[in-house]
Amino acid sequence: MAIEKLLIANRGEIALRIHRACHEMGIKTVAVHSTADADAMHVRLADEAICIGPPAARDSYLNVAAIISAAEISGADAIHPGYGFLSENAKFAEIVEAHGIKFVGPKPEHIRTMGDKIEAKRTAGALGLPLVPGSDGAVSDVEEARAIAEKAGYPVIIKAASGGGGRGMKVCNSPDSLETLMQQAGSEAKAAFGDATVYIEKYLGNPRHIEIQVFGDGNGNAIHLGERDCSLQRRHQKVLEEAPSPVLSQAERERIGGVCAKAMADMSYRGAGTIEFLWENGEFYFIEMNTRLQVEHPVTEMITGLDLVREQIRVAEGRPLSVAQEDIRFTGHAIECRINAEDPRTFAPSPGTVTSYHVPGGMHVRVDSGLYQGYKVPPYYDSMIGKLIVYGRTREGAIMRLRRALEEYVIEGMKTTIPLHQALLTDPDFLDGNYTIKWLEEWLARQEG
Ligand code: ADP
Repeated sequence: MAIEKLLIANRGEIALRIHRACHEMGIKTVAVHSTADADAMHVRLADEAICIGPPAARDSYLNVAAIISAAEISGADAIHPGYGFLSENAKFAEIVEAHGIKFVGPKPEHIRTMGDKIEAKRTAGALGLPLVPGSDGAVSDVEEARAIAEKAGYPVIIKAASGGGGRGMKVCNSPDSLETLMQQAGSEAKAAFGDATVYIEKYLGNPRHIEIQVFGDGNGNAIHLGERDCSLQRRHQKVLEEAPSPVLSQAERERIGGVCAKAMADMSYRGAGTIEFLWENGEFYFIEMNTRLQVEHPVTEMITGLDLVREQIRVAEGRPLSVAQEDIRFTGHAIECRINAEDPRTFAPSPGTVTSYHVPGGMHVRVDSGLYQGYKVPPYYDSMIGKLIVYGRTREGAIMRLRRALEEYVIEGMKTTIPLHQALLTDPDFLDGNYTIKWLEEWLARQEG
């Protein structure tokens, strides 16, 4: 059934992104916002806007009762959760559906399975995805842990089953520290996630982060849209993403993409998903699956020409995927810079009022941002204020275009990470595509030194 009015349960650039897809499909939008976001761009552009609470996210963007009430009052027939906030909350998805509202996202049971890292790994293994060697599930016994670590080989990483955002992980280099680190990981996980369960994996020394975009129709058909290389990270947070990865051949892409698409077809996965891998010496190792749209989805849109939000909405309406695997052509190269309101050296948040604003333009340049002249960036939320994405026929062409676009981008009134991106884009290692998940932190340390 066609969606006529969609409630956007998010804020910032992704709320605007969803609004744009809706209006291009003739769907009316309802923005929900905290009191701090009354002047946000997507609130101004939406057909209706409803205030759902005070600034703190737990009272507004995470306030399930207020969001469901807003959907009921406005008569929205669908809710898109964006990323973050309630997007990977299986209970929320269930409540939305129980109210007869379409959830633009995966089936609740798949959100639940993939949200538990141990369950996710077990499921991924059963579906034929390559795993990081390690424990079969939760480990509580130290002797058992020792045997697993011995078999996988040190160093190993102890990870929280309910972990997220790069927290609750401990790298262990030798049997002597295993017991202490297991206890530490367990109590930190308990404090952060309310669950002390941990598991063990081999710690890969210097991998890349390569993720595969997948899409399913919920009825056993699924496709992959290639990979994104997100190895440029600081504190496990992605900084710049590109597609295709500089290290994969077309044959490798088709092989791993095929394995992922088949896995999604086998589980009758619905909607957009990302299967994250570490990649080292030509091998993929599954780490987790995100059951939602990702921040970095535009690079995939650039090289495939597909609108992923439109595709999500179509699937939520019960329609088939608009493309078959053989219709998908990967052309050219795309790169995304995440622009944060942060000091580019210390990364201290720097919210403020935009006193001057100029957006880059020209061929193959895309800016996804809710900023405008006079907009006051609230201090309560994530510091990402926009994304600059460019496309080029070659990687070199995309890099030149990105450098040119960054030169044009003017954001005054706060510090931003634009200068960081400008420096990265002239680094010889980056130009060669020669970087791993450790590279950026080492590079930052060199800049300091
Ligand atoms: P989270 O859900 O907290 O983001 P992930 O499992 O996705 O946790 O891991 C986050 C990051 O931690 C990865 O991108 C990688 O940098 C690092 N990491 C995780 N597992 C391993 C591993 N087995 N070996 C090396 N690094 C790892």
